[in-house]
Amino acid sequence: MPANGLDSGRRAAAVLVVVLGAAALWRGTGGGSTADASQKAMSAAIAEARERAAANDPRLKGSYRFDRGGWLYVHLEGEPGALGYQHGYLLAPEIEDAFAAVRAQMTHSTERDWEFFRKAAHDMLWPKIDAEYQQELQGIVDGLRARTGSKLDVYDIAAFNAFEELPDYYVPWYNKAHPVAQAPMGSGRTPDLKSPGNCSAFVATGSWTKDHQIVIAHNNWTSYLNGERWRIMFDITPAHGYRILMDGFPGVIASDDDFGINSDGLMVTETTITQFEGWNPEGKAEFVRARKALQYASSIDEYTRIMLDGNNGGYANDWLLGDRKTGEIAQLELGLNAYKLWRTKDGVFAGSNWARDPKVLKLDTPQFDPNDLETSPNARRVRWDELLNENKGQIDVALAQQMLSDHADSFAQKEQPDERTLCGHSDLSQRGVQVWAWGAFYPGGAVQGKTTDSAMTKEMRLIARAGHPCGGDFLAKPFLAAHPEYDWQAPYLRDMKAGPWTEFRSGEPQPKH
Ligand SMILES: [Zn+2]
Repeated sequence: MPANGLDSGRRAAAVLVVVLGAAALWRGTGGGSTADASQKAMSAAIAEARERAAANDPRLKGSYRFDRGGWLYVHLEGEPGALGYQHGYLLAPEIEDAFAAVRAQMTHSTERDWEFFRKAAHDMLWPKIDAEYQQELQGIVDGLRARTGSKLDVYDIAAFNAFEELPDYYVPWYNKAHPVAQAPMGSGRTPDLKSPGNCSAFVATGSWTKDHQIVIAHNNWTSYLNGERWRIMFDITPAHGYRILMDGFPGVIASDDDFGINSDGLMVTETTITQFEGWNPEGKAEFVRARKALQYASSIDEYTRIMLDGNNGGYANDWLLGDRKTGEIAQLELGLNAYKLWRTKDGVFAGSNWARDPKVLKLDTPQFDPNDLETSPNARRVRWDELLNENKGQIDVALAQQMLSDHADSFAQKEQPDERTLCGHSDLSQRGVQVWAWGAFYPGGAVQGKTTDSAMTKEMRLIARAGHPCGGDFLAKPFLAAHPEYDWQAPYLRDMKAGPWTEFRSGEPQPKH
């Protein structure tokens, strides 16, 4: 920590001592409601003093946030501890809110209490996190506490960062290794945990695209509960590695859905592998490897090397990659027992949550049936094939936006938004998605979309839409009235209203009001 950082911390402490002293004097005088009122006033004064001291912290230098098109753009810069501090401070209200929502889901689906996840973070994940990301996570805690007085600590934040890998990869593995008669929280049911099916995406190059350069596009599939909160646009200028522009989730250091570009021309997205099974407790957390790869990789080979280094099997994805310097694209199917890398300078790779390498299918997704065309991953694979072939040679970012909004159900042979369309609306389908343990009318689907191409990546630009890529709104109140089985989500589930397709650029100045 720089010396002036310490000074500022001491200043804040001094302010607090003065204010606390005053509070003690006040408390001694009044009684009843007057005392309550003065206590409230004192709490407010303490909070204000803390915020004033925190706002003057030199670690915040150069950072800022602004809203646009339903997104929250956050610029972070500097050493790892400062990146974290800025992140925690600038997004403090959003982090507290997202943490509560994620914790509710993790504990509900697994029937494990939060302490279980903290312990997993402390014992298993933390020792293998690179020092620079440990510092960044600690920075988030420091910024958060400075701003709101939050009680969260670094193991809460580390477990929270692993929300895509602990509940659906680690817990099923743990349950197998430690069988119990019934679910830990005693409901009598056995938690049905399946790896998630997040996203529809493609990357195309050569004769497939209009300008023969790379086009990449992705929509994020998740619960609407999380999805409505997945609207941060992170613009990161780290002291080490390349600049990053990526979408993301408050409090999480990786994009995590994932979509991002770096200033050396690497373009990255993914879709998860349905019915993936496996976990290596000796491995390195996926969120750490994914962030590191986007920050440090300058080529498809380097990206692959970083993702393979310490692979723990968590949040196993088919990574879709592009390198604008060479025009080459790749698909890295990253299983735990097997993986495969395909690459080409003239072709297209699409993803909708299915593995295709025979070894990965056999060793890592033994339950997955690639021939069941009725299920969401395979129905969308068929639709990607149709749509990309129909548009060969015409693909650009404008067309990519339309594709991400597509509502053709290839199995039903109908135009209708549901769990099988590229722009997913599972809340409209009574079938649910059994392979992901999504029940009938599950409030989940495509929650936002992003696209960019080689020329835009050179200028560190991308286009994104918050909410369903088609522009449709999800409204929580009528949904919960119609589907009381999702009542447990009521405290967290909000309307998810679509914004316009909106452009973002790295280093964009804060707009003047
Ligand atoms: Zn839609």
